[in-house]
Amino acid sequence: MLSSSTCLANCSYLAYAYPSLVNAAKSFDSELDSAKDLADIFEVVKLAVRKSTGKERPGLMLGLANLGGGPQGFVGAFFPIATNIIVMNSLPLKRIKETDPALYKPYVFHILLHEYLHTLGIIDEAATRRKAYEISVQLFGKNHPVSQFAADLSKFVPKLVYPYYGWQPQGEYQLELVKGFDRSSTSSYIN
Ligand SMILES: [Zn+2]
Repeated sequence: MLSSSTCLANCSYLAYAYPSLVNAAKSFDSELDSAKDLADIFEVVKLAVRKSTGKERPGLMLGLANLGGGPQGFVGAFFPIATNIIVMNSLPLKRIKETDPALYKPYVFHILLHEYLHTLGIIDEAATRRKAYEISVQLFGKNHPVSQFAADLSKFVPKLVYPYYGWQPQGEYQLELVKGFDRSSTSSYIN
């Protein structure tokens, strides 16, 4: 107990003496690192946007669907107008997990950040990308993969999609729900 109170005192002292250092130590990089799943990463996205812009939107839901992909391009995720659901394309998620797992979390972060900014009312694509880049650089630094995705996602596209002719859908269409996705409209796909 003694040693624990000593530690607390030291920690408080450090926080008092180096507030910016302590804030930086609990960095967004490590927040993202310790995220365990999509829902966790989404929490880091919400935290980042709140910290950077002061804005937030509660009550969003997240769904995963195989939206396809190919050499001509792919959809990372979309936010259906007038809904509170962000739907991520599971195909590039799977692909990046296989080819470059270290980029998985930064990719998810970037895609969710982009869509989350849409849900906050930023509709214009260029403005959304600018804002995503601005937030990423501010909280992760320019060289972090999160910022590199925000700077130029197309640089990573070859790693994110299956080659068009190589992809086998295996005759099924899967939809995975993350946190209370609207089951009534999707139940025909589950089973
Ligand atoms: Zn967009």
